[in-house]
Amino acid sequence: MVKDILILGAGFGGLEASTSLREKLDDSFNITLIDKNEFFTIGFTKFDVMFGRRSAEEVKSYYKNIAGDGINFVKDTIELIDPENNLVKTQRSEFSYDFLIIALGADLAPDAIPGFVKGGYEFYSLQGAQKLYPLINNFKSGTILISIFNKPYKCPPAPYEAALLLHDYFVEKGIRGNVQINVLIPGPIPLPVAPNVSSQIEKLLEEKDIKLYKKHKVVGLDPDKKIAFVENNDSVKYDLFLGIPVHVPPKVVRKSAVSNNGWISVNKDNLETKYANVYAVGDVTNIPVGEHAVPKAGAFAESAAQIVVIDILAKINNETNHSRFEGTGICYIEVGGGNVVELNANIFGGEEPILELNGPEQGFRKKKELFEKDRIKKWFK
Ligand SMILES: Cc1cc2nc3c(=O)[nH]c(=O)nc-3n(C[C@H](O)[C@H](O)[C@H](O)COP(=O)(O)OP(=O)(O)OC[C@H]3O[C@@H](n4cnc5c(N)ncnc54)[C@H](O)[C@@H]3O)c2cc1C
Repeated sequence: MVKDILILGAGFGGLEASTSLREKLDDSFNITLIDKNEFFTIGFTKFDVMFGRRSAEEVKSYYKNIAGDGINFVKDTIELIDPENNLVKTQRSEFSYDFLIIALGADLAPDAIPGFVKGGYEFYSLQGAQKLYPLINNFKSGTILISIFNKPYKCPPAPYEAALLLHDYFVEKGIRGNVQINVLIPGPIPLPVAPNVSSQIEKLLEEKDIKLYKKHKVVGLDPDKKIAFVENNDSVKYDLFLGIPVHVPPKVVRKSAVSNNGWISVNKDNLETKYANVYAVGDVTNIPVGEHAVPKAGAFAESAAQIVVIDILAKINNETNHSRFEGTGICYIEVGGGNVVELNANIFGGEEPILELNGPEQGFRKKKELFEKDRIKKWFK
């Protein structure tokens, strides 16, 4: 009898799971992948768009060109996940499943911070990055604030990367001396899950004269006066405000029984939810690491998807799955001057989470380019 594998969300997690399952299973398994969008973009390409290095069109990979022949891609919005009845409803259709993988990522909630939609900008969406380019390009002098409103947010080093790239951009234009770049963060260190990497990031910022304000949680903006209000602190003036929007679980996940009105909890070894044969991977999950959580990043979504594929194959073949999610991933961060650092993570592989920073090196630039190229080649024709 034909079995149905349903994958919700065609980002890092969904693309990896569907491509890998299609390679490994014959056509007695239907593989359906649903996403509301027509195209995928690698997260860090938003920097290319923000700094005018590539157009938005150039960083899109369209799902109509998805690699795996026999992956049934459905462009639709998912409106209901009902794990009690093995049912998923979209705007136009409904689906039942034998195995379900939820890879719906995180939604951005810019309106959670009063004044931000009117008075601030962001580079976490493609449209946001597109809007920013002319503003940055025409910026002549003044103060740029980069603010992390809250955790969790995707790719924890990205705000610091943005600051370092801004530094470079204005150095090249010969106007760095006229621009103040300040980063305001809610916590005591840049990357709470990685104190050792945090001090290296602080050093990189210091070298570029980028001021880091710790325990500065911005709670609102006055767009007319160009002031950011900081919790328990003075307000701060800005000329250009870049915020990392508050991240929330997608609404369809919040209202599903698969979550407790929040991020999805999973068995951290095989990523199965409290429902048998229902898995969740990537940004939509909350996987505790001490008092923190596995960071939201494409690299972790991808490695989680690989474990889910192994688990599903083991179940299909009545075998025991000996693999477990270790929270491994590599991330490349541009630090200016053509240099890139490599952030290596192995969260559950040892006794303590290992997060280490290598570089900066010019050579890692090639690796960063390959990170994108390899994935697009694997997932698209
Ligand atoms: C500026 C920036 C830089 C980054 N740099 C890096 C980096 O260097 N390395 C790294 O590893 N990560 C990086 N990331 C983070 C990375 O992009 C995300 O963590 C990753 O995309 C998460 O993968 P995912 O599969 O969980 O979710 P996503 O890739 O976000 O995919 C979720 C999918 O679900 C779809 N969806 C959501 N709701 C619905 C619905 N109701 N109906 C239908 N479809 C829906 C969305 O359209 C989306 O395609 C960066 C992110 C940003 C913003």
